[in-house]
Amino acid sequence: MNGILSRIEKQLNTISSDGRLRQLPEIDNGKQKYLQMGGKRLLNLASNDYLGLSSSTRLAAAARDAISIYGTSSGASRLVTGNNRLYTELEQELATFKDQQAALVFNSGYTTNLCLLTALADRHTLVFSDRLNHASIIDGISLSGAKHIRYRHNDMEHLATLLEKHRDHEAKLIITDSVFSMDGDLADLHTLVKLKQTYDCLLVIDEAHASGIFGDGRGLAHQLGVAAEIDLHMGTFSKALGSFGGYVAGQQLLIDYLINTGRALIYTTGLPPATVAANLAALRHIRRNPDQGQKLLTMAKNLVGQLNQHGINTGPTESHIIPLIIGDNTRTIQIQQHLHDSGIHVGAIRPPTVPQGTARLRLALRADLTSDEISQLTTTLIEVLCP
Ligand code: PMP
Repeated sequence: MNGILSRIEKQLNTISSDGRLRQLPEIDNGKQKYLQMGGKRLLNLASNDYLGLSSSTRLAAAARDAISIYGTSSGASRLVTGNNRLYTELEQELATFKDQQAALVFNSGYTTNLCLLTALADRHTLVFSDRLNHASIIDGISLSGAKHIRYRHNDMEHLATLLEKHRDHEAKLIITDSVFSMDGDLADLHTLVKLKQTYDCLLVIDEAHASGIFGDGRGLAHQLGVAAEIDLHMGTFSKALGSFGGYVAGQQLLIDYLINTGRALIYTTGLPPATVAANLAALRHIRRNPDQGQKLLTMAKNLVGQLNQHGINTGPTESHIIPLIIGDNTRTIQIQQHLHDSGIHVGAIRPPTVPQGTARLRLALRADLTSDEISQLTTTLIEVLCP
């Protein structure tokens, strides 16, 4: 057998015997509050559609209108003919919303991180990155050729020690998720800002899970009052904004540089106009309804309080992302199945997405739950998770 194929076969066998085999589930209505899986109707607590906006009639109408005007494809890179008025409006409104000079929209959050890291960092750059940062950040650093210096998760003393060690190095960048995607805890942005100032670094934050939720929808940096101190604010439309695509907001100089050097912007077709229109409608919705995120956070805090009272381990969460830490991979899948039997779908997250021995169910709470649904959910979780 060909060497590549035999390595692949061996690796898949190992993944399978470790209880880590991934399979694409058959799902209908994956973004709705209820989805159909294996012939069952399940409450969907696995999606990142935190505000239920993907089902908004306004977003759908905006997308339909854009199709009727522009067609289904943007036809080329934004730098050729793929740009249009919707992009301009979206980027201007986004920059204003984030209190930044300019904003730039990309084809996904994943490519946004790839693009900004490969543009800002090169082999002369040191990138200080939280150990639990999202995979797109890790991939972006690798692709940039920069020296990747990982600091222990949210450990500001460790970061300070590493920065001190490299004090005299000129090109330094710190990057962090603001809300960590698998633990739901928050970056210490106040200390990061102080460290960035002391050691003269660029500071980039990934607000993928905070956008639409924290800071009246603007993100965690706004909630904590440090937005002006952060060099680039990255985010995505694919989670609370119920649509698709990524963005960065920051000073004009950096945005101009990304337009000129960002390979993941230059060498790919622009987003379909329907998507850009839905993004704009979602942004406007968040601006009109700034309190929805806070309502969701209050709902999450109450649920976590009740689960903890029953001895259920919810990790370090401070947000609407609630990890139910189980530890063992196989047991995590079994509990996911028990929850399915009770009509609830949560994501089962196993290594390598999370560290070994910390397999978990990732419960992504959503703002459109009724009080009956929340009490039913609480009762079921306690029944299934309490020994
Ligand atoms: N950053 C973080 C922290 C994420 O969780 C994700 C998505 N899982 C991304 C970036 C990528 O965003 P997108 O899904 O829009 O590609």
